[in-house]
Parts: sequence; structure tokens; C-alpha cells
Amino acid sequence: MAQLGATTLYIIVLAFLVTLNRIRKDFMELALRDQLTGIYNRLSFFEFAEKEVAKCKRTKKPMHLLMFDIDFFKKVNDTFGHAKGDLVLREISGLVQSSIRSYDILGRYGGEEFMVLMPDIDCENAKDVAERIRLEIECHEFEGVGRVTVSIGLAQYTSPESIESLIDRADQALYVAKETGRNRVCTWEHPNNEV
Ligand code: GH3
Ligand code: MG
Ligand code: MG
Repeated sequence: MAQLGATTLYIIVLAFLVTLNRIRKDFMELALRDQLTGIYNRLSFFEFAEKEVAKCKRTKKPMHLLMFDIDFFKKVNDTFGHAKGDLVLREISGLVQSSIRSYDILGRYGGEEFMVLMPDIDCENAKDVAERIRLEIECHEFEGVGRVTVSIGLAQYTSPESIESLIDRADQALYVAKETGRNRVCTWEHPNNEV
């Protein structure tokens, strides 16, 4: 009887520890994610991106960063309401997530700005991915909102720059995309046309 009691207690403690471990893992996963969209949040994006930068420095394989921002998103909120704006953010996240490779990293940079870090991809293919994302969003019908577009900035990682520097260059390209009419992809170019 005493033996049975000890076994039962052992099983209960084990089950408790397994459950506790699962909860801990769920919490850790949750902390990496943006609450609204479910994609990586800014902090975890940076953590993953730092690792990719270190890897890229070692392997010397080409890597690209794509930054996109929803066009006239304030108008979406003002016209259809904040809840519909949230729905657009969620749907765009889903569209992009399913359009990229499993090892590309999608993160919400803030508000209606997103980033995709794409390791091991050359310039032509990175441009194709960016254009595909742009077109997919342009063609999507957002329920109760209609059509929405995004502007995209693209930059290739240049060793040994930091992730912040890469983001800054993608942001500059995004700025050009906005300034030259929106709903387009612009690639960062060296002021002197050098690579
Ligand atoms: P642009 O084409 O120049 O990017 O214009 P824009 O209207 O998209 O840019 P602006 O910076 O003026 O507006 C961004 C809007 O995004 C304003 C803000 O309320 C909205 N926004 C930011 N975060 C969220 C969010 O989590 N949910 C919703 N619904 N709206 C958000
Ligand atoms: Mg915007
Ligand atoms: Mg913005």
C-alpha cells in the first residue's frame, strides 16, 4: 500500500513537472510574438537577426532585408475603424508569412511596418520575393476594407555592418518607394552607384 502511494505520488509530481515545463515553453514562445499578428515582435526579430548577421559574416552568403509599410493606413483606420485596421495587419502578416521560406524571419517592426530578413538569397531573387509580396497584397481583397497596398524597401547585407545599419538602408529605400508613388519596391543604392 505504501509502495502504491509512493508510485502514485511520483506520477503526480512527474505530470506536474511536465505540465509546468509545457507552460514555461508556451510563455517563452508567447514572449517572442507580437500579440496582434502572431509574428515575431521587434525584440525577438532583432535577436534572430543578430544571429543571422553573425552567420552571414561567417558563410559570406548573400542576405537581404526587406522592410515594408502599409500605404495610407491611417485612412484605413479613419474610414473603416481601428478593428478593421487590425484585421488588415493580421491578414497581411498571414499573407507574407505563407509567402516566404521557413527560414526567412518576419517581424513587426512597429505600427504598420514589417521586416523580412532573408538569408542566403541573391539580389535578383530577393527582388522577385519583394515584388511577389507587393503584388499578393495588392491583389488581396480585405474583408470590409477592399484593396490595400504596401511600399517596400530592400537592402543587401554588406559585411561587417550591423543589423541596425542594414535596417537603416532598407528604411532609406522604403522612403524612396514612398516618395516615388508608393505601392512599389525600391532597392537601396549606394549614393555613388557603387555596390
Ligand atoms: P504612408 O503611406 O505615408 O505610410 O501613410 P500612413 O497613413 O500609412 O502613415 P501614418 O504614419 O500617417 O499612419 C500610420 C497609422 O497606423 C496610424 C496608426 O494609428 C496606425 N496604426 C499603428 N499601429 C496600429 C495598430 O496596431 N492597429 C491599427 N488598427 N492601426 C495602427
Ligand atoms: Mg504607412
Ligand atoms: Mg509607418
